Amino acid sequence: MRAVAFLFLAIATTNLSLAAPPGKTAVKCGRLLDPDKQAVLQNAVVVIDGDSIAEVRTDGSVPDGATVIDLSKKSVLPGLIDAHTHVLLQGDATSEDYEAQILKESVAYRALRATAAVRIALHHGFTTLRDLGTEGAGYADVDLKHAIDRGIVEGPRLFVVTKAIAPTGAYPVLGFAWELEMPKGVETVDGADMARRVVRDQVAHGADWIKIYADRSYYKDASGHFASIPNFTLDEMRALVDESHRLRRRIAAHSMTPSGHAIALAAGVDSIEHGDVLSDDNVRLMAEHGVFLCPTLTVGAFVAPVRSKTNAIWKDLEMASGESFKRALAAGVPIAFGTDAGGFDWDKVNQAEEFRRMVALGMTPWQAIRSATVVAAKLLEREGKLGSLAPGAAADLVATSGDPLADVSVLEHVDWVMKAGALVR
Ligand SMILES: [Zn+2]
Repeated sequence: MRAVAFLFLAIATTNLSLAAPPGKTAVKCGRLLDPDKQAVLQNAVVVIDGDSIAEVRTDGSVPDGATVIDLSKKSVLPGLIDAHTHVLLQGDATSEDYEAQILKESVAYRALRATAAVRIALHHGFTTLRDLGTEGAGYADVDLKHAIDRGIVEGPRLFVVTKAIAPTGAYPVLGFAWELEMPKGVETVDGADMARRVVRDQVAHGADWIKIYADRSYYKDASGHFASIPNFTLDEMRALVDESHRLRRRIAAHSMTPSGHAIALAAGVDSIEHGDVLSDDNVRLMAEHGVFLCPTLTVGAFVAPVRSKTNAIWKDLEMASGESFKRALAAGVPIAFGTDAGGFDWDKVNQAEEFRRMVALGMTPWQAIRSATVVAAKLLEREGKLGSLAPGAAADLVATSGDPLADVSVLEHVDWVMKAGALVR
């Protein structure tokens, strides 16, 4: 009994350090960016009660007894959302990098490394992540999410998918001697019945989203058009989507080329991940049905120079992804900020680089900021709750010197972070 009581005390104490302080907090902002209204407020005060935003005052007043945080020299905005990450991965530009993690690191060790990754993300201003697959680390994302929620590990709020899904022969680890039973970076699904069973099983294990791989083996056909092997039949894809939606989960499709997009879109997926090669037909359908694009430009810039040494298609895909991004933007496709962090090393590249890549391809700084706040929140079905200054929204705030609307790259230098009312840095 004493041991139990002691343990409880230890957990309670740990929780306190990462929890919102009691009473109200008033954050005085030099420049407050409201992505919902696309407005800049000068000298506004964000009033926080517990873990959520109570109100935004524009008259500069502070509630009686509130703890004041003075950010009057800074730009303040809602916490950032990265809608495509892999916290259990530490860079996989080459298959050797990937295999070293899947084959030589235990899941426990990878989970320990993930605790460092989520801390980096949070300190860079990302208060929410949609994490799209553990890459062979089972359900460790669910464990990490719980550890963060309980205040044991410092990190962003996680939306997780567990194992992700691809058919037989479609996903590493591949190419080893046939008598070896190698681990896989995904859960294998063949056939519509199995698709439904696996979606049910992943949801039972804590998946907030379902993630599937729609295409692979990218190449250019004889006429120079991008092509690939679509991973699933329409029948399988429909079962995956229908079962996800029946269980009130959204479904994200890794899809690089039109042959993958065609089946994923016909079946009704909620987001296309990467979308390096988007046809006019693809973007029209996505805009019509509100299917989100998560462009992951940063991972493209990271892997293309390395992978194109052995296969030139990766350079071609990176070039095409810029054009596809512009086409999607012009067509009004909802573009949610996503980087594929984990595909690049968490400790070497700041995922906030995605902002300047988006702006270089034609987004305004406001559009880029909205993609990482209100648009990503809509993708997550948390409108007005995340990435927002609305009363009742999570008290997730970040601050930086400089003006992100003049130079969006200042978001790579976030130096103050609050998550759910608790001061992170
Ligand atoms: Zn990914």
